[in-house]
Amino acid sequence: MLEYAEPVTKLIDELRRLPSIGHKSAQRLAFHIMRAPEADLERLIGALREVKQKIVLCSVCNNLTEVNPCRFCASPSRDHSVICVVEEPHSLVAVEKARSFKGVYHVLHGSLSPIRHIGPSELQLANLLPRLKPENNDGVPVKEVILATNPTTEGEATANYISRLLKPLGIRVTRIAMGMPVGSDLEYVDEVTMDKALANRHEI
Ligand SMILES: [Zn+2]
Repeated sequence: MLEYAEPVTKLIDELRRLPSIGHKSAQRLAFHIMRAPEADLERLIGALREVKQKIVLCSVCNNLTEVNPCRFCASPSRDHSVICVVEEPHSLVAVEKARSFKGVYHVLHGSLSPIRHIGPSELQLANLLPRLKPENNDGVPVKEVILATNPTTEGEATANYISRLLKPLGIRVTRIAMGMPVGSDLEYVDEVTMDKALANRHEI
């Protein structure tokens, strides 16, 4: 059953594949796109192409970047002996907003979730263990790994999993404090709360 002409249905179907977009939102976006001036659409198409062509994952920390390694991994002014593990690139931006963290990052691009069938191999975890060795870290031994995954069931499970991986290596593993509402996302936490959460991190 075709409610709309085929190209319209096709566009709605594609938009529905985006996260948090249901059928109604997809329809609304599709009609907005169809009514938009050609120049606006060209800009949108250009931005989509550019992001796909220019943005890669940092080979060290998996952050989204235009240059590899990313500006955090390449920076001599960051403390390469402390690694902050976050779920998503926007979590990294949230930690940076606190301005108190001077170490480097590791972006997992997700969290463990048995319900959504996301296991450790679905996360960007493979390059975490190798970079803890001084020979792979410009000769700098890693002193501490801060687990700053979200305060959700999945984030906690991910933190516990990584903690179990790292503990036998004799590296200090800490978890950021729950100074933020449980079930929230790091992206929505204000700078003061983020600063407190980092300051009150604890061993796990
Ligand atoms: Zn990096």
